[in-house]
Amino acid sequence: MSGPLCTAARILTLGMILAFLAACSSAVPAAAPTPPPTPSPSHTPAPTLTPSPPPTPTPTITPTPAPAVCSPLDTFAIPQLTEIVSNPFNPPDPGLDFPHHGADYSFYRYGSRVGMLGLPVHAALAGQVAGISENRMPFGNMILIETPLNTLPADLVARLLLPTAQPTLPYTSPLTCPPLDPPLSYSPDQRSLYLLYAHLQDPPEVQLGQAVTCGQPINHVGNTGNSINEHLHLEVRVGPSGVRFGSMAHYDASASPQEQATYCTWRISGLFQMIDPQRLFASQN
Ligand SMILES: [Zn+2]
Repeated sequence: MSGPLCTAARILTLGMILAFLAACSSAVPAAAPTPPPTPSPSHTPAPTLTPSPPPTPTPTITPTPAPAVCSPLDTFAIPQLTEIVSNPFNPPDPGLDFPHHGADYSFYRYGSRVGMLGLPVHAALAGQVAGISENRMPFGNMILIETPLNTLPADLVARLLLPTAQPTLPYTSPLTCPPLDPPLSYSPDQRSLYLLYAHLQDPPEVQLGQAVTCGQPINHVGNTGNSINEHLHLEVRVGPSGVRFGSMAHYDASASPQEQATYCTWRISGLFQMIDPQRLFASQN
């Protein structure tokens, strides 16, 4: 086609196209905002798993056997005791009370320690309280503890080189020694160690017959009785089992005949035979 009709047709056609496009554009709904992509489950970060620690194996606890011998002085190991023996064992002849039935432990200065007044005193052996005295001469505050030999390890008893039982009652002594009333009855086949702790700071709080364990605090180092400086006087004897001592005293006008008799039985009669305390501790080195 050509001429004016053709031009009109072209215009008409262009108008129809524009009208169609306008209709189409109005027919398309407005685009909705695109929602954010939903992360697929596969994109969900896996939770961080804290691996559980492997089960801790229960430690096998081997019980430490209780020591048979303990240091009688707090903070002092048994091997250190030999360094503070200020007056060693020096046994008297039979019937005499001097020079020294036990061993004295004392120091003015030891490492950072200055003075020993009030230092806790521990039981060197487990046992039962066999005697107590409260501020009597010459021991001052005193505790006596019995340990039957059959409760001690056999190798320890062997190393003590104990004297055979040779009770020597009756005995003679220049000391005033009234007879013990009632006299002791005993079986020499059943023997015990007896440890006497003297010049203690405090009146004894333990009771006669009370059980004590090795290393148990029983009092403190003091300066009571016949003592001019604080120290621990320790006596070790072997004698018949089961003896319970009443108060013992001597060298003092207030000592009763019974107290004198008890003192002489312990110290002089020979029924309770002396042992160097250091032998007890040396056996542990
Ligand atoms: Zn002494």
